[in-house]
Amino acid sequence: MEALKNLPPMTEWFPDLKRPIVISGPCSAETEEQVLETCKRLAATGTVDMLRAGIWKPRTRPNNFEGIGSIGLKWLHKAKVATGLPITTEVATAAHVQEALKHGVDVLWIGARTTVNPFSVQEVADALKGVDIPVLIKNPINADLDLWIGAIERVQQAGVSQIGAIHRGFAKYGEKQYRNAPQWQLPIELKRRFPNLPMICDPSHICGNRHMLQEVSQEALDLNYDGVMIESHIDPDNAWSDAKQQVVPERVAEMINDLVLRNNLPQNGEASGLSAFRNQIDLYDQEIMNLFAQRMGVAQKIGEFKKENNMSILQTKRWEEILGNAFKKGRKLGLSEAFIEKYLKAVHQESIDQQNAVMNKK
Ligand code: PEP
Ligand code: MN
Repeated sequence: MEALKNLPPMTEWFPDLKRPIVISGPCSAETEEQVLETCKRLAATGTVDMLRAGIWKPRTRPNNFEGIGSIGLKWLHKAKVATGLPITTEVATAAHVQEALKHGVDVLWIGARTTVNPFSVQEVADALKGVDIPVLIKNPINADLDLWIGAIERVQQAGVSQIGAIHRGFAKYGEKQYRNAPQWQLPIELKRRFPNLPMICDPSHICGNRHMLQEVSQEALDLNYDGVMIESHIDPDNAWSDAKQQVVPERVAEMINDLVLRNNLPQNGEASGLSAFRNQIDLYDQEIMNLFAQRMGVAQKIGEFKKENNMSILQTKRWEEILGNAFKKGRKLGLSEAFIEKYLKAVHQESIDQQNAVMNKK
């Protein structure tokens, strides 16, 4: 655990790295031309620090493109030579690690479907013993922080000294807005426990679309992330995997240039722990606000119902019931009666005002 508190910053992994660190390239290597052209166009924008391409693709359903295999590493290596940029790929087995090392891959990453399985993570970690290459560990598919930390520890205990985490969102049944719900509180808590752990956001797999990439990338930077990993393709609509979320290389550059880098980076571990707490508070406040808006929406519907049925707004018995239930629940949660009463009175008053507004509408 101690070693994870003293990790080197990602900007020290390679010369000339500055925040935000940008990793981009296709979801999957498909053809030599596609890999080379995507990477050269990315490099030409001057905004990208590292090139990515998936070589072995763990697919949710069978009969999808499962990756081009080792030949893709040769193309990725050509892209490295042509652009002078470091390259990275996903590894899930010891054989993948060996192949990647043989082809001069500079950084490895462990994918979300691998992080969930300690056997697989341990196999990769064992293959890394005696090889000090930087490794990025994606969050597991499910929102289990310990599983994520466990994978990071396995890699660290194999002797890897340059480690970072990638936040790519979490599978959530019924989730509509995102492909993988960001659940920011998990990476924030990880960062609170290990303030020096580099953190990269993967908006491509969080969003699953193109139109939210910018917004999610900005949210990540506002939470002091070190950088982003964004999928790009020369012909996104016809990509063999993740077509909906990939963008052309020039669009990556545009997004990066539009990102606002707020310079409130705390300088030491203690301060960054504090800022993680503050981020947590901000997220909760945002959630509370959303819930208030939803609650008021329901209050308006009640107003309409009472209007139609000619009922009075204030129903004393109901109000006493709300208050009594809240006191009981609040006690269990460690909230004082005085606070609950103050809070509920304010909310109740606003509800009444909203209902009044509805009832007095001609
Ligand atoms: C990918 O980066 O293309 C990928 C498969 O990501 P994840 O492991 O996050 O699903
Ligand atoms: Mn992908």
